[in-house]
Amino acid sequence: AKSSGKDKTVFFNAGIGGQLSRKMELEKDLRLALEHRQFFIVYQPKWDAKLGREAGFEALLRWQHPDKGIVSPGEFIPIAEETGLIVPMTRWMLGEVCRLNRRWHDEGLFRVCVSVNMSYRVFESMTLLDMVEDALRSSGLEGAMLELEITESIAMKNMAITLSQLQRVRDLGVKVSMDDFGTGHSSLGRLDEIPVDTLKIDQSFVKSSDRVSKQALIVGIIGIARLLDLEVVAEGVETVEQAEFLLSRGCVLMQGYYYGRPMLPEEVEAGAWKLAAV
Ligand code: C2E
Ligand code: CA
Ligand code: CA
Ligand code: CA
Repeated sequence: AKSSGKDKTVFFNAGIGGQLSRKMELEKDLRLALEHRQFFIVYQPKWDAKLGREAGFEALLRWQHPDKGIVSPGEFIPIAEETGLIVPMTRWMLGEVCRLNRRWHDEGLFRVCVSVNMSYRVFESMTLLDMVEDALRSSGLEGAMLELEITESIAMKNMAITLSQLQRVRDLGVKVSMDDFGTGHSSLGRLDEIPVDTLKIDQSFVKSSDRVSKQALIVGIIGIARLLDLEVVAEGVETVEQAEFLLSRGCVLMQGYYYGRPMLPEEVEAGAWKLAAV
């Protein structure tokens, strides 16, 4: 801000200006990040606590910024959504994930589904089917080995275009899961209309699963899943107590630091994380 003689104004502008400039820098840099190969993907295991084996992996995006270090998805995903860059980023990610999972199959390492997070922007762009078809065709992966994670807010934002695109990808065998379930805006009334295979219990419920009120919610979600014949995965499982509580209520699919952090493909392949699992 120009020096105006009004201290308060200068102060205020400097603060806002500082924040805006990091965001604007990230926005500018994000445009080049894909072609400069600054993104990489980490994979977090989903563990089947009944069978004692991996049940799948969630692919999570990481950005290695040339001079800011690793920028968290909490910071860059919203920018990628605002700018629309999330669409080509998701296309790239689907291609990478399917290629890696196909290799895991071919090498006999894992025969599980890998999931990719979806943004409302991808549905708005009407390119989901094309992206998924391309990724499956070029990798040769079967559709059932890919899963898309959507949220209640995506489903609610534009029900008609979301449902029709989900239906088409499901026709290819692709699975769909409802992420952060229970935190969105009451899609419960229409949950039976959304084509999903799995509910993911949000980590906020799991975090406070020592509280009776949250236990009731978890038990409720597991009950809904059972009634609608859906799978249920608990997210953010960090302790053996949480795992035991979930298991005692019939939730056997677990994801969280207790079972394994998001890891590079080499680390996943080395399988060291399996030691932590119960
Ligand atoms: P999400 O989809 O709910 O992903 C789960 C987040 O919880 C991940 O954070 C994961 O690292 C973290 N997490 C997993 N287990 C635990 C645990 O036991 N304790 C705690 N405290 N955290 C745990 P991450 O990787 O930072 O991603 C944050 C969010 O960014 C994701 O939330 C997702 O909404 C978004 N995101 C990440 N990658 C992508 C992507 O490729 N596309 C889109 N559209 N969104 C993405
Ligand atoms: Ca997710
Ligand atoms: Ca989640
Ligand atoms: Ca989340």
